[in-house]
Amino acid sequence: MPLLFVFIIVVVIVAIYARRNAATRNCRWRQDRAGSKGALMKYNCVTCGVEAFRANGKPDRCLSKLNRPGL
Ligand SMILES: [Zn+2]
Repeated sequence: MPLLFVFIIVVVIVAIYARRNAATRNCRWRQDRAGSKGALMKYNCVTCGVEAFRANGKPDRCLSKLNRPGL
């Protein structure tokens, strides 16, 4: 039985790791032309709802962690 127990723990750890990875990779930035200011284009992250202004393309990562105290 101990083997089954270890197996369950591994599955849980992998699941947590995979979910955390997915949280940062699933960020989809959508351009919001209405909210843009001149050369600064506004981007909305569909996944976590973060807004960002960029002049040189969409952000390459999720910015939601900037608003949260350490993880
Ligand atoms: Zn995001």
